[in-house]
Amino acid sequence: METTKFLLDEKSLPESWYNLVPDLPFGLDPPLNPATREPVGPEAFAPIFPQEIIRQEVTDKPFVPIPEEVREIYSLWRPTPLFRARRLEKLLDTPAHIYYKYEGVSPAGSHKPNTAVPQAYYNREEGVRRLTTETGAGQWGSSLAFACQQMGLECTVYMVRVSYDQKPYRRIMMETYGATVHASPTDLTRAGRDILAASPDSPGSLGIAISEAVEDAVGNDDAKYSLGSVLNHVLLHQTVIGQEALRQMELAGEYPDVVVGCAGGGSNFGGVAFPFLRENLTNGRRTRLVAVEPASCPTLTKGRFVYDFGDTAGMTPMMKMHTLGHSFVPPGIHAGGLRYHGESPIVSALVHEGLVEARAYPQNPTFEAGLAFARAEGIVPAPEVNHAIRATMDLALEAREAGEEKVILFNLCGHGHFDLAAYEQYLAGNLEDLEHSEQEIEEAVARIPAG
Ligand SMILES: *Cc1c(COP(=O)(O)O)cnc(C)c1O
Repeated sequence: METTKFLLDEKSLPESWYNLVPDLPFGLDPPLNPATREPVGPEAFAPIFPQEIIRQEVTDKPFVPIPEEVREIYSLWRPTPLFRARRLEKLLDTPAHIYYKYEGVSPAGSHKPNTAVPQAYYNREEGVRRLTTETGAGQWGSSLAFACQQMGLECTVYMVRVSYDQKPYRRIMMETYGATVHASPTDLTRAGRDILAASPDSPGSLGIAISEAVEDAVGNDDAKYSLGSVLNHVLLHQTVIGQEALRQMELAGEYPDVVVGCAGGGSNFGGVAFPFLRENLTNGRRTRLVAVEPASCPTLTKGRFVYDFGDTAGMTPMMKMHTLGHSFVPPGIHAGGLRYHGESPIVSALVHEGLVEARAYPQNPTFEAGLAFARAEGIVPAPEVNHAIRATMDLALEAREAGEEKVILFNLCGHGHFDLAAYEQYLAGNLEDLEHSEQEIEEAVARIPAG
């Protein structure tokens, strides 16, 4: 029997997270104070994050040890399996070898608990009682709700309105883990009230929900804020994915020519890709790294690489990143986790420097790929993942044209069991390809403060 599943035992769970920053061949631009435009030190983040998270945000150590309690909770689902997609290869009649790392086996069903658990841990260690956050598709909210429950913290989630309406089951899951969930924009914060005054039917956005969650945390002494993507410490925590995948590819006796991940804020992409990028930078490997995003929120492929706010209300420090402008409200596509105006500063810089490639696809071709994958391999992927699968299939078809035995690894960062309404729409032929309007992007980009 041919092996399709590459497993590691609990003892192989990584002992550290890998920090790419010291290996980068270029420097990263510092965050700026939104009022003075002067670089801010780590203390600017003190009202919203605990000290250890701030240290990790700026650390130049190549490896950061994972606390034992966090590793124990990780061991509930980690190490996650790596699969060879032999049935998909056959379907595509491709000489390419396709592998995928499956993060959907976590309690919340995605890669997000990899960072939710350590974030809740460090907050509890520093005496915080409640965490606030935003959530798009509900993946992050349910991950943080689970992590807070493990650590005995309260959890308040601002859930983007369009997802709140489309995905009641994610809300119920968060409530099952003990969290309080609000549809954002709310009338509970100034940021939310401002948006509602201007557009009462706002579908919400991650940027708006972040403003609300930050405002809640800053206004309450025992609360801090937690972010599920974009920032350096989040990508750091996600590198357990790529470190495990490196060892599993070794078990499979192969090495990837291409590593693919979908990119919303960049954390699952960074998590799978950075340990392979390290091999490129320090061991002479030449793996292509491909980040895939929706054509309706084309941050890496159409955004500017400039300083911008992380949220809509302009409360966060400004970061140099690929952005569509902090006022850009992407259309309500089903890949809610990819509806963010900005992108990880590290991933942005890597694309800018040409060390990472970016691609964008409209919804329908990604669902076509996701359906083919589900029928061939059995797992129903989250709509976000379908972007990575579309790119993987295209790369495998290119390999067929070229007659090349390429090895492709992609990150299947979450299952789609809460996204079946989106599949229903696709199956009924009712899924729209909501291309961004060039004019909307131009207007939003014009509102980015000059830096
Ligand atoms: C949150 C989420 C994303 C987008 O976030 P990244 O930080 O870009 O990884 C993608 N896929 C799934 C399944 C998610 O839950």
